[in-house]
Amino acid sequence: MTQTELNKYKAMLEAKQAELSAGLRNREDIAIEKTPDAIDEVQLAGERELAIRNLDRESNLLRNVKGALARVADGSYGVCLHCDEDIKPKRLDAVPWTKYCITCQEAADRHEFETESGDTVDDLLAHAA
Ligand SMILES: [Zn+2]
Repeated sequence: MTQTELNKYKAMLEAKQAELSAGLRNREDIAIEKTPDAIDEVQLAGERELAIRNLDRESNLLRNVKGALARVADGSYGVCLHCDEDIKPKRLDAVPWTKYCITCQEAADRHEFETESGDTVDDLLAHAA
């Protein structure tokens, strides 16, 4: 990978990190919000659960983004953590914080090897974005 490409992904990762950090701060405010109205209790409980699930997901994503930035810093960015092959630029463009090449990601999705939690969900998020 050239320094120009590396800088591009680094910028993308830093932007994502800033966005997630800001989002997580706002979400914490929403998650602790309370209403005295008993009728809304059930709905509120559902919303709170959803907010917490999103929070989990975004925390995972933020951890992966930080991990990718660490790999940018130590020079190992863009290499699959499972098979040591270069990850295709097209995949890095779509999911710059990915740890795996597409082949290994598909294997991970089928639980063919051990991964940290959150890898699959991050890809879903990236496709939805
Ligand atoms: Zn791989």
